[in-house]
Amino acid sequence: MGTSFGSRTLLAICGALVVLLAALAAVQYRWSTRVAVADVQREKEHLDSAASLFASEFNGIAAQAMQFLQNDAHAALQSGERLTGVPKLIGALYYLDVPAKGERQVRRLTAEGLFAPSPLPEWIPVPRCAPLVIEDPPLLVAPIYDIATTESHGDIGDHFLKTFRWRADRCFVAGIDQTYLRDALFPQLIRQSFGETAAAEYDFAVVSLNAPSHTLYGAPVRADLRKPFLSIGANLPWLPKAPFGTSAPGGSAVLIQRVESVVTKGPPDLHGAGIWELQVAHKGLPLTAAFERIRRRDLLLSLGVELLLVAAILFLVIAARRMQRLADQKMRFVAGVSHELRTPVSAIAMLSRNQADGLVAGAEKVMQYGELIHQQSRRLNEMVEQTLQYAGIHSGLRRPAKNEIDLGGLIQEAVDARREELAHSGFEVEIALSRDLPPVLGDAKLLRTAFDNLLDNALKYAGGGRWIRVSAGYDAPDKEVHISVEDRGAGIDPADQAEIFEPFCRGKAAVEAQIPGSGLGLSLVRSAAEAHRGSVTLVSVPGRGSTFTMHLPV
Ligand code: ADP
Repeated sequence: MGTSFGSRTLLAICGALVVLLAALAAVQYRWSTRVAVADVQREKEHLDSAASLFASEFNGIAAQAMQFLQNDAHAALQSGERLTGVPKLIGALYYLDVPAKGERQVRRLTAEGLFAPSPLPEWIPVPRCAPLVIEDPPLLVAPIYDIATTESHGDIGDHFLKTFRWRADRCFVAGIDQTYLRDALFPQLIRQSFGETAAAEYDFAVVSLNAPSHTLYGAPVRADLRKPFLSIGANLPWLPKAPFGTSAPGGSAVLIQRVESVVTKGPPDLHGAGIWELQVAHKGLPLTAAFERIRRRDLLLSLGVELLLVAAILFLVIAARRMQRLADQKMRFVAGVSHELRTPVSAIAMLSRNQADGLVAGAEKVMQYGELIHQQSRRLNEMVEQTLQYAGIHSGLRRPAKNEIDLGGLIQEAVDARREELAHSGFEVEIALSRDLPPVLGDAKLLRTAFDNLLDNALKYAGGGRWIRVSAGYDAPDKEVHISVEDRGAGIDPADQAEIFEPFCRGKAAVEAQIPGSGLGLSLVRSAAEAHRGSVTLVSVPGRGSTFTMHLPV
């Protein structure tokens, strides 16, 4: 009662665990979908902020270059001194003075840092001097300012109005160094803004917004993100600083800056999003697809873990049931062996007591008693022997010997030893031993016990057929010897056939017919065959007989 409740409880717990795991898998599936959406969103936001950082860094560098042209280049031009510290962004630098009428003056910054007269290169388009960026070829145009200051006096204090005017005929034109952009600045800014990991995971390209076929960096990609850049900010940080300070002479003052153009057409819009575009694409798959793949991989991984858990639970159930069965078998064995031992022991005790008490008179009676005592002691001996062999094989302490065995001789001896008994029980014995039986390497004692068990079983269970055939042959293709013991007894119920080789397992028919036995004989046969790297097979038809065959590799 207790054990069946125990195994049922175990089954219920395992069932509940499997249901729980299934529920967990469902929750995990839904949760992973939400997490994946959030991950994609977060990654897009991260990319967007990194791209904004890239754009503002680059715009800052461009603004610094403009400021350099307005201040340092202008000062060097006026003073005729050497110009140093030219930003790396600037490749070639020209000064243009191209009045509508009159002589045109073009100067080029030489390697020595001086402005020398030069012809107007053809890659500079017809110049119109205004603060602007030209896309193709990439140029920065920085007009030269006239600065005027006007004073006004009012209730709230003195005002200084600083006016910056540029004329459309004087400016610096700086060619942007595309090699520097491609090989140094863009890769460095990408690494700085996106980080080393993202820089390795994504492809980057910079193209012209108006002419996307004009690529400045990388190869154009199917972009997960696009960010325009290269605009010059509205606060005009590149406007000249010196020599005009922000403090007014003689007390508090408000400084107002104003930019004017003396040309009728205003300057181009430098305050928009930009003229170039940074494109970012996830390597291999688009971002969403890549995250979906990661999600699926993670899901598969957790599914694998859950399956492993289910398998472990199943294994646990099977192992528990096996252990339960083994424990039951052992209990049956102990009960069976004690019962089996008690019968011959009490028979011997009673028979010998009668003899000792002088109750057996006459030579014939004495012989009869002697025979009975001998039979019982043999049965007792067999049982003890089988139990010891079973314990020996399964303890792993006894290693089977490895000697050359003459199987034909061994079989013949075993049959001869039982011939009288077989004849007494009315058995007809046929022996068919092949002449070409090769010797087998192994433990003769173990094989003899196995063979004896098969003969004993035929004697015990096939009494109705009264016929035994023992055969042995060599199967050359499979390189094995097979020894068969065949009978024409009652056969074995198909339901019992798989079980009877298990230790302590007995056939239903044998138990019902109260044929004595411990259930160890066939398990010993199987163990002996396996110790010789062989096996045992059974062919049995109820009502017609059984054939047990040992297969031993040579
Ligand atoms: P035991 O003979 O002690 O019961 P075995 O392991 O030798 O144990 O046999 C297991 C069972 O197999 C037997 O109880 C019997 O039911 C069945 N069996 C074995 N040999 C035969 C046979 N030749 N014919 C019919 N049944 C057999």
